[in-house]
Amino acid sequence: MSQFAVVDDCIVVGGVALPILAQRVGQTPFYAYDRKLLAERVQALRAVLPPAIRLHYALKANPMPALVDYLARIVDGLDVASGRELRVALNAGADPAEISFAGPGKSAPELAQAAASGILVNVESAREAELLAQVSHDLGLPARVAIRVNPDFELKTSGMKMGGGPKQFGVDAELVPALLERVARLGLSFEGFHLYAGSQNLKAESICDAQRKSYELAVRLAQSAPAPVRVLNLGGGFGIPYFPGDARLDVAPIGDNLADIVERSRHDLPGVRLVIELGRYLVGEAGVYVCRVVDRKVSRGHVFLVTDGGLHHHLAASGNFGQVLRKNYPVCVGNRVAGGARERASIVGPLCTPLDLLGEQIELAVAEPGDLIVVYQSGAYGATASPQRFLSHPEVVEVLV
Ligand SMILES: *Cc1c(COP(=O)(O)O)cnc(C)c1O
Repeated sequence: MSQFAVVDDCIVVGGVALPILAQRVGQTPFYAYDRKLLAERVQALRAVLPPAIRLHYALKANPMPALVDYLARIVDGLDVASGRELRVALNAGADPAEISFAGPGKSAPELAQAAASGILVNVESAREAELLAQVSHDLGLPARVAIRVNPDFELKTSGMKMGGGPKQFGVDAELVPALLERVARLGLSFEGFHLYAGSQNLKAESICDAQRKSYELAVRLAQSAPAPVRVLNLGGGFGIPYFPGDARLDVAPIGDNLADIVERSRHDLPGVRLVIELGRYLVGEAGVYVCRVVDRKVSRGHVFLVTDGGLHHHLAASGNFGQVLRKNYPVCVGNRVAGGARERASIVGPLCTPLDLLGEQIELAVAEPGDLIVVYQSGAYGATASPQRFLSHPEVVEVLV
């Protein structure tokens, strides 16, 4: 399933063989992201998307500054979800006109940062619109606004549902017309709508369905808008395969579906900029987590490879604090991928909890202390999505190669 090459039985990241890379980084554990794989993913996606679709990167998936700098140059815009992410996006040199800010509960200082930067704020409640108007008035600076809509439908078979039904995200579709009126009276500059149905979806059909319904809802809501819709963010939700049996998302039908929406928008919403925002799909498969075997124990016939990394750096691979049905991320011994002899082993970390598990009873090359364990599909929701201070071990480092 991996896109990383193997040369002389070693994983190669960014053209560097893993044992050399580990020396170059100067420590284990680390995350390594491959520039070439990032660029290839963006190119491959653009090849199926209609040129009118603007491709945004959602920093939440991986806000490492060097990676954001790199991606900012090859995508059309960035989406941030906090004031700190906004600073990273601006440092990367992204055009503020192409940065948008989503997330519930934005604070007055964050809204002030947004207004002072000239980015687009996806407001998620009436209170947020009022607060933004207040902040913008106090600063004497205009504020650009889109309304994040909580749609009246759900994204089917999504790993994580973030729209439809009662949600903390966005404004319920039926309440949007009243909010549009309020936005106009508050003197905010209305630019459009943002809809985000969910994440980690591997079914093209359900993504297409959500995009079509999102588009149609936006066209209906546009009738109540105080100004023409200039931006319509149709969300993302493109998933990546993590577990055995996960079929790779087929993006070709999504490209066709978006081409159809682009065509319809020429009539329905002339001049609109159509945006999709992706996180893990752009970065998830371009990254690995690497830790070192420090001990090899056999307990009643069961092999445990004890490593210097684990749950505290990579919560998702460990199973998110004991998820009901834990599944193994793809892993290998990165400096002897095929190896000679093979065996079943569990890969654990140094934390004093049975939850500190990176792989359970996996078939691997026989590994010894000093060998390097690689967890694939680790470019998204890794370092910043893990409880690094839990048990007070050293923090992980990140490199872009
Ligand atoms: C989390 C999130 C994303 C990114 O999700 P991925 O699954 O990483 O693609 C994009 N947009 C919004 C609004 C989000 O909350």
